[in-house]
Amino acid sequence: VGQRQMAPATDEAVVACARSGPSTPRALPASGAPPQPHDYAQLERLLAGELTPAAVLRELQASDLRGLGGAGFPAWRKWATVAGQPGPREGVVNIDEGEVGTFKDWHLLAHDPRPALEGMLIAAAVVGVQRLWIYVRDEYHDVRALLRDELAALQARLAAWQQRYPAAFGDTTAIDPGRAQRPLLPPGGPVIELRRGAGAYICGEESALIESLEGKRGLPRLRPPITAVQGVFGRPTLAHNVETLWWLPTLLRDGGAAWATAGVRGRHGWRRYSVSGRVQRPGCYLLPAGSTLRELIDAAGGMADGHRLYAFLPGGASGGILPASLADVPLDFDTLAEHGAFVGSMAVVVLSEADRARDAALSLLRFFEHESCGQCTPCRAGTRQAVALMQQPVWDGARLDDLAQAMRDASICGLGQAAPNPFGSVLRYFPHEVSP
Ligand code: SF4
Repeated sequence: VGQRQMAPATDEAVVACARSGPSTPRALPASGAPPQPHDYAQLERLLAGELTPAAVLRELQASDLRGLGGAGFPAWRKWATVAGQPGPREGVVNIDEGEVGTFKDWHLLAHDPRPALEGMLIAAAVVGVQRLWIYVRDEYHDVRALLRDELAALQARLAAWQQRYPAAFGDTTAIDPGRAQRPLLPPGGPVIELRRGAGAYICGEESALIESLEGKRGLPRLRPPITAVQGVFGRPTLAHNVETLWWLPTLLRDGGAAWATAGVRGRHGWRRYSVSGRVQRPGCYLLPAGSTLRELIDAAGGMADGHRLYAFLPGGASGGILPASLADVPLDFDTLAEHGAFVGSMAVVVLSEADRARDAALSLLRFFEHESCGQCTPCRAGTRQAVALMQQPVWDGARLDDLAQAMRDASICGLGQAAPNPFGSVLRYFPHEVSP
């Protein structure tokens, strides 16, 4: 699949990743050709010294790969920050994927976990990680079983690589940027811990996930310090979702600049969208970065029979609700801020004229009320008050605006800060639904 996804940015490059349910994963490249077996070739180039950590960082920077779990932070900057901290260092693979409507990481892992595992080890080698934590949400039992098997196979591979490339294994705690040759992985490879989440939405938030990994309640931490400086057990930590890591072997094989050219309308690379709602073929779709909702709906086979586009959620529960008139705005990081929305993990839910934005917003606020960790009052009490106000036939816009301001200003984490987005969108774009 990865090879085909590097095709030029044309309509033919749109790849339908999955249309099947969790029990029957399958990939559907546009060409219908079967995916190639995965061989960890880029990691081996690194271990063999054909590729240096500095060269990997350069490719990463050239690609403009961003964190695809939702934050969109440039990956190379995060790597450079972690590598610049004194060791020991930790790595986290965030497979909580709790954002409403998001299932792309599940799809990638169910199809083949090895590209993401290779990306994970490449990242560990470049930034000098000694221990890796893979945090899988409880609902992904099928993926957890796959990972257990694949990690066992990986231990055997690591032993073989250590035999073949002994210079690449050693003490990686201290990174000396002046040395061209340095150990990349600890003897035997990094310790890899596979952990199961317990079903809390908030544990997808990086710092709450780390608290959970450390055996505590999943409560988001105040920042600073950032995770890259003080993460798991206070150590510098590189945390990524699956898709970000999954792209690394492809990026290094074809070059970061080549990956970047896939984007359209001034954006770089590829974006994988989880699409659900009133479309013909809900599923996971890969399009050039900078694509619009209209193009995404086309890729998903158009609107479902008998339905006309009315509204859409560009970024799961948190990203707001936009009207059909914005169907031609690129769905990417930083493009929706002026509309009070964001794409986050690229979970797009399409609503039709059979739906009401106010119903969707109320449903989302009930979800936030349920999932708030309760640590700070603006979020804990604010989500409850918002639900009460939104249940009224006519909304009190002034009170909801005040509430939104308090929640955005004084909540510790993104849940409380983004929770007002759904009702803010309704007040802005769908006032006819909530006015007398
Ligand atoms: Fe918890 Fe909400 Fe505060 Fe985040 S904003 S820490 S979820 S109470």
